[in-house]
Amino acid sequence: MPQDAIDYSKTVLLPETAFAMRASLATAEPLRLQRWEEEGIYGRLRERRGGAPRWILHDGPPFANGDIHMGHALNKVLKDVWVRYKNLRGFDAPYVPGWDTHGMPIELGVSRALKGKPVGPLELRRLCRAEAAQWIERQRNQFKRLGGWGDWEHPYITMDPSFEAGQLDAYWSLLAKKQIYRDLKPVHWSWASQTALAEAELEYKEKTSTQVYVKYPLSPESAARLGASKPAFAVIWTTTPWTLPASLAITANEKFDYALYSVGDECWLMARSLASNVFEQLPAIRALGGAEKSAALAAQAEPSRQVWAGKGADLEELRAAHPFIEGRSIRFCLAPYVTSDAGTGLVHTAPGHGAEDYVTGVRYRLDILCPVDEKGCYNEQVEPADLKGKRVTDPATDEAVLELLRARGRLIHAEKFQHSYPHDWRSKQPVIFRATKQWFMSLTGNGLRETVASEVEAVRWVNPWGKDRFTNMLKDRADWCISRQRYWGVPIYMFYCRGCGAEHFDLACYEKLKPIVAREGGDAWFDPARPLSDFLPEGAACAACGGKEFRKETDTLDVWFDSGSSSLGVLQARADQAFPADLYIEGSDQYRGWFQSSMLVSCGVSGRAPFKAVLSTGWTLDAQGRAMHKSAGNAVDPMEVMEVWGADVLRLWVASEDFTADMTVSDALFKSLAEKNYRRVRNSFRWLLGNLSDFDPARDGVPLAELQPFDRWLLARLAALIEGVTASMEAFELHKAFNQLQSFCSSELSGLAFDVHKDTLYTLAAGDPRRRSAQTAFHHVLQALLRMVSPVLCFTCEEAWEHLPECQRAGSSVHFSEWPQSRPEWRDAELEDDFEVLLGLVRPQVTRQIEGLRAAGSIGHPYDAEVALSVHSKKLLRILNKHSGFLAALFIVSRVRLGNAAPQDGLALGPEEIAVTATDAVKCVRCWRRPGDVREDSGICGRCAGALAHA
Ligand SMILES: [Zn+2]
Ligand SMILES: [Zn+2]
Repeated sequence: MPQDAIDYSKTVLLPETAFAMRASLATAEPLRLQRWEEEGIYGRLRERRGGAPRWILHDGPPFANGDIHMGHALNKVLKDVWVRYKNLRGFDAPYVPGWDTHGMPIELGVSRALKGKPVGPLELRRLCRAEAAQWIERQRNQFKRLGGWGDWEHPYITMDPSFEAGQLDAYWSLLAKKQIYRDLKPVHWSWASQTALAEAELEYKEKTSTQVYVKYPLSPESAARLGASKPAFAVIWTTTPWTLPASLAITANEKFDYALYSVGDECWLMARSLASNVFEQLPAIRALGGAEKSAALAAQAEPSRQVWAGKGADLEELRAAHPFIEGRSIRFCLAPYVTSDAGTGLVHTAPGHGAEDYVTGVRYRLDILCPVDEKGCYNEQVEPADLKGKRVTDPATDEAVLELLRARGRLIHAEKFQHSYPHDWRSKQPVIFRATKQWFMSLTGNGLRETVASEVEAVRWVNPWGKDRFTNMLKDRADWCISRQRYWGVPIYMFYCRGCGAEHFDLACYEKLKPIVAREGGDAWFDPARPLSDFLPEGAACAACGGKEFRKETDTLDVWFDSGSSSLGVLQARADQAFPADLYIEGSDQYRGWFQSSMLVSCGVSGRAPFKAVLSTGWTLDAQGRAMHKSAGNAVDPMEVMEVWGADVLRLWVASEDFTADMTVSDALFKSLAEKNYRRVRNSFRWLLGNLSDFDPARDGVPLAELQPFDRWLLARLAALIEGVTASMEAFELHKAFNQLQSFCSSELSGLAFDVHKDTLYTLAAGDPRRRSAQTAFHHVLQALLRMVSPVLCFTCEEAWEHLPECQRAGSSVHFSEWPQSRPEWRDAELEDDFEVLLGLVRPQVTRQIEGLRAAGSIGHPYDAEVALSVHSKKLLRILNKHSGFLAALFIVSRVRLGNAAPQDGLALGPEEIAVTATDAVKCVRCWRRPGDVREDSGICGRCAGALAHA
């Protein structure tokens, strides 16, 4: 056969892999999910990890209502990333998803759909249960599409009897130690939903209210005591005139200075530092402006006008009359919460309508008067009686109260103003403070606050500010109101004596109830067909009066108590879990939500925090940094993102930014992530798979000592990468971990090693030790990359894993493999120093000159060039000489000559020391290099001839 008939392009070893360049994730991922499910792959992972140390991420249950949004996607992907990571690290790390099911939104939705059709509690609960169940089914499919592995067939669900049984344990444990109590207390009350609200259910919005300055007539004795010779009044300021009918006291600050001022033919009592607030309301002074006004205010406050001056502490014995309710005596109280930033320094006090007022009321043994019913209207207790029936949040009600004041000359001034006011987050209506009989969890009883405080110290708060945020949220909170006046919830299991009203629930009650709840859940309690004797132990008698007739409580527990009990209902109840959990990951709103409720219940029951570490995420925002809302039309739908780009691109987004801060999303961002970041990683996998197709590590692997220096350097970089990524993962800095992986793919691999080794891999004989050396290094790189990237790109890495030759694949799934270990022997300080010089100092300058030549048209391919280095630096020359055989490959040129010009110390390289020229040597038709030994007859170089001879 004549030489010129040989097609040398058929003799080069081009990459071979079926791993596609185009990912087609949107179509490929659902098929893989289906296969994973058919293979029962999550169960197989559990079997493989059985007996290993357990690592538990406890899922904060999303509410089973509505389709998933980007916040859910972020949350579930993060959890899956850490569960996969811990499984790779060799832990038995199961994932049990949860759902929160009870609560008002579902009950309101169901009630609305009934359009007024009356149904009993049991039927209502049945409808709510069906509603929650269908959302669970829908969300489950959406969550699974994200790629998360878990026990999706056996989740924990707060409406399941098994969960409710655990919650009953928590409730009974707290009740038995009197951590739970019933009391009349003002709570945030939604009249629109007719229920008490937790802090977490409030949202603050602007509201127009009326602020008023009101005069309370001092009793004649009190006026005389202050030396008043004219009618004397205490002046108060309030923004809730509707609470005046419940006013029982005036509270002062004992440390403030007060004075009784002569104003016209009256005397007014108020704090001296705030008196000008009141004087400004006088018609004569209101009319003035500028300097005249200041002068008039000063004149009014002059000492000569002060009939009496003294401290707040002097006021405690005073008495006043109510401004419009005949016969009601108003007493004076002292409290440190009275501030000097607004008002008059005298605070009208209605213990039934304010948290601080309540505290004062208890201290001074005032009535907890609350003349407002559950619909937010004055009830029959109200005085004067003609206010009855008026809704207190109605502006007309404030007006009616003002009219009562005006009629008696007690109103100094009233005006409308805007302020931030709590609203019911569901009905969007303003809430009121209203005293009702409620169940509470005490934060002070049994030293719970102290227990929590010491447990807080033992927890790893991953976000640096997490501990402070948690502590602050807890510091100022009052006892937790855990009762709700709703049907769709876990019942508050309590009996009341029909004779005397006393509460009755003891160990016998708990033991009788437990099996019923474990079997039937809370429905049994609400079933009107079931006699009380089903729940009450035989012979139960009231401890107070001996009565034997009881009625059941109808309130239900706050849903935060449901999810807050999951440490009992899940971590301690399930065989595949452990208590406390290793990690909780949720949004940063959970410092006052689930993190807190879980901590309180767990510490209350067992004295221990339910978690060892807490990590919180920021919000997901649109490209302009605004919150995303379906109604605002700026919401990015995760299901749509996956339909277009695939779940792996969504998962890559989670890993691309610091998730502890707010994260933005937009269609443009996903496009860029898919086309740049994702493709870079995928192309690296593809290149490596293709060039390792003929490599069997057992047969072809080169021992470390025999590897080419560049390949040893690559392993040193890999060791550093593994160490860096592992450290970032342990610090929960996912974006840093993933950045290092991406940067390795672009800098070390596609920006360097792939170019440098293309020639080695394509043109040397298959078994050439230099080629096997390169493959050995790339084999380690690919193995480590696939495992380290797999928690994030769980689909893509599995796909690449399947394309590995059998001999390179340890196990049937990348997710069954082990996290790579950095090997100390891969590190080589001297070699790494050499390459820092070669890659940092020399290569960029040489490459720049080659590019210059190419741009000028002097050469086509870098192989058309040869490089002459005539360096001064002795150290540099030593390094260059050491790696002289590799320099041509490093620069991707045909030849490199080294020379020494006037040896010097130091390490430097100037452009004048580099000469790049076009070579006139003949081009090898096989490898395209121009090494100077191409034979005329064959047209190929000596190295290629050798490679063919060994092929
Ligand atoms: Zn009784
Ligand atoms: Zn050649």
